[in-house]
Amino acid sequence: MRVLITGGAGFLGSHLCEHLLGKGHTVVCMDNLVTGSLDNIRHLFGGNRFFFVKQDVTQFIHYPGKIDAVMHFASPASPVDYLKIPIPTLKVGSLGTHKTLGLAKEKKAIFMIASTSEVYGDPLINPQHEKYWGNVNPVGPRGVYDEAKRFAEAMTMAYHRVHNIPVRILRIFNTYGPRMRLHDGRAVPNFITQALNNKPITVYGDGSQTRSLCYVDDLIRGIYKLLLSNINEPVNIGNPEEITLLELAQTVKALTQSRSRIVFKSLPVDDPKVRCPDITLAKKLLKWQPQIGLKQGLSKTIPYFRKALDK
Ligand code: UDP
Repeated sequence: MRVLITGGAGFLGSHLCEHLLGKGHTVVCMDNLVTGSLDNIRHLFGGNRFFFVKQDVTQFIHYPGKIDAVMHFASPASPVDYLKIPIPTLKVGSLGTHKTLGLAKEKKAIFMIASTSEVYGDPLINPQHEKYWGNVNPVGPRGVYDEAKRFAEAMTMAYHRVHNIPVRILRIFNTYGPRMRLHDGRAVPNFITQALNNKPITVYGDGSQTRSLCYVDDLIRGIYKLLLSNINEPVNIGNPEEITLLELAQTVKALTQSRSRIVFKSLPVDDPKVRCPDITLAKKLLKWQPQIGLKQGLSKTIPYFRKALDK
C-alpha cells in the first residue's frame, strides 16, 4: 500500500511510519512540525519508500499519484498544548479531518482517524466501552481537543454514509514510549524527566485519579490490525491495566532509583477522575490485546529519556 500519514513526524505518527515501512508499504509523511520533529523520522529517509511533506493539513491537500490509505494522526496531544495552542488544536481536528477525508475520497482510499478516549470526557462509567457517549465539557480548556475529535468522528461517519468511504475510527487511550517530548507536559514524560533529574515529581491533585497506560509498540500493532480490518465503527485501543497517578509516580521513582520527592500540585480543570478502556471489541474483532506491562514498558522508555537528557 501507499499510505499517507498526517502527523507522521510526531510521537505516534513516527512509530506508525516505521511500522508500515517495516511491513513493506510506502509512506508519505505529512507534518507541519508544530509539535512533531524531524528528529523522529530522520532515520527513515534513504530508501525509496519514505517521503516527507511539510504541510498544514487544515489547508487544501494535493498529493500526486495513488494513495491507498489516509491516516489522520496530526494533532497536539498534551493538555499543556491545548492550553497553549487551542485554536490550532480545534482546527486540525475539525478542518484537518475534513481535508484529509476529502483526499481519501479523491483517492478512493481507506480513511483512519486517530480519535481518543477524550471523547468520553470525565466518564461516568468505568471502564469505557465504545457505546458510551461520554461526559464532555464543551467550553472547558480541554474541550478544544475533545470536541474537535468528536466532530472528527461525526465527519468521518458522514463521509462513510454519504460517500461510502471505508473508515476506521481508532479511540486511543493514554500511550507512552520513546519519542515523547521531554517537555511534553503529560504525566509519563514529566515524571521520568523529573525523576532522572532528581527534581520533585509533580502529582496533580491527590493522585487518586486513574489512567491506563499502553506501551507504544502494543498500540501500533493494534492500529495496524484495525487498518487491515473492515470495521467502520469506533474501536478502543489501549491497555486496561489501570493505576492511580500516585502509583505511577512511585513506580517511575523506583525504576529510575531517583532521590526525587513526590509533591502535590493543583489539579487541572476538567481532569478526568478515571480512565480505562474496555477492549472487548478489539479482542474479539481484531484478536488484539496488549502484551507489554507497565514496568516493562517504562523500562524500555526510561533509557530514551536518559539519552535525550544527556544531549
Ligand atoms: N499529571 C500529573 N502530573 C504531571 C502531569 C500530569 O499528576 O506532571 C496528571 C494529570 O493531572 C492527569 C494524569 O496525570 O490526571 C494524566 O495526564 P496526562 O497529561 O498524561 O494525560 P491525560 O490523560 O490527562 O490526557
